[in-house]
Amino acid sequence: LAQSAQENESLLPKMPPFDYTPPPYYGPSAEEILSKRCQFLSPAVFHFFKNPLNLVDGKMQYLFDEKGRRYLDAFGGIATVCCGHCHPEVVDAIVNQTKRLQHSTILYLNPAIAEFAEALAEKFPGDLKVVFFTNSGTEANELALLMARLYTGCHDVISIRNGYHGNAAGTMGATAQSSYKFNVVQTGVHHALNPDQYRGSFGSDGLKYAKDVEDIVTYGTSGRVAAFIAEAIQGVGGIMELAPGYLPAVYSTIKKAGGLYIADEVQSGFARTGSHFWGFEAHGVVPDIVTMAKGIGNGIPLGAVVTTPEIAKVLAYRSYFNTFGGNPVCTAAGHAVLKVIEKEKLQQNALTVGSYLKQRLTSLKDKYELIGDVRGRGLMLGVELVTDSQLKTPAKVETLNVMEQMKDMGVLIGKGGFFGNVFRITPPLCFTKEEADFLVDVMDYTLSKM
Ligand code: PLP
Repeated sequence: LAQSAQENESLLPKMPPFDYTPPPYYGPSAEEILSKRCQFLSPAVFHFFKNPLNLVDGKMQYLFDEKGRRYLDAFGGIATVCCGHCHPEVVDAIVNQTKRLQHSTILYLNPAIAEFAEALAEKFPGDLKVVFFTNSGTEANELALLMARLYTGCHDVISIRNGYHGNAAGTMGATAQSSYKFNVVQTGVHHALNPDQYRGSFGSDGLKYAKDVEDIVTYGTSGRVAAFIAEAIQGVGGIMELAPGYLPAVYSTIKKAGGLYIADEVQSGFARTGSHFWGFEAHGVVPDIVTMAKGIGNGIPLGAVVTTPEIAKVLAYRSYFNTFGGNPVCTAAGHAVLKVIEKEKLQQNALTVGSYLKQRLTSLKDKYELIGDVRGRGLMLGVELVTDSQLKTPAKVETLNVMEQMKDMGVLIGKGGFFGNVFRITPPLCFTKEEADFLVDVMDYTLSKM
């Protein structure tokens, strides 16, 4: 494709101009890095691409390889970079804090940690005002499950099939995709029907899927549960939006069973969905516990759990401790992220550009039978590829091929879904309409050559 494109360059979509030249790179080549990676890094790494890039610089929505070639990062790390790579205000906050104090723990007081906790708590409705910091989404969800179990005195947890919640013992249990489970003992976790409007048996009827949660409580537990945990939009699961009416109905079932609702906002939080700051807000229910990571630090390792003072009390006078969680450098980054989202109106931008991008992707669906579904909200969008639109046969090979060719044309997207056939489009929230056009034009060109 790259060769035929070279033959007629005028036909190729043009990447929008961007006023930044990365510094020269004198480090090892991509081949040398790949050989080190094979030798010294765990083999359990994902290879989305046949020829992985050696990325050495980043600026806002763009990444640069060792040769200075520019790529539009429409995956945003993995939905991690919300303000843009190396956003100057986030970088300044990190550098300034690093020069002053790199490390402190909850044994002492520190302004960077306390001020960010206060600013973060202000972003929540109701009584959600107590913050615990962690280093990742997995840790945040582990802590949330622990708190729910301590608070309710119950062990049973319900999560949704196809959801992803992390890779430690408890969260691997709550995760409901075979490829992320490793046959370790996980008791008391039940996976409810996925309210998937594209593939699910009940279409968009959220109440019918919600009935399954009621059945699990009735037949699979003592009638009492610790928690229901769910993403507002499944990210790893393939940008799957919960069917309308599902969450309020499940919420009421869980409350009757004495359980807590844990909202996993690791991907859908921090203004990504555009219409709201948190994904759960689109469903009109207020969680008991909210977990977050990824966007919170614009890619810096940071996670958090936010809950009510009453639930937070379960950890009072217990030796719950996290050495690095809430490190001042990370919380300084987090605080800067909140300010940038506000100052640059990134939530509004995610809504405007995301709606435009979704509409353009939907028109592509009318053009290519390979596109079975386009879904998502704001700048959290999914495109599902199928080889047969009636049977919805997952187009796994085609998904990889399109991604590889889009990468060669300068556009990086992710993939997910149970069958690995859903493009995940989660760019930094500063993404522009011109970049949305470029992405769709590149996808269009690539699909036209399939
Ligand atoms: N929850 C969700 C919704 C996620 O998407 C992820 C990671 O992809 C996690 C939890 C786990 O986060 P981490 O990889 O930071 O441990």
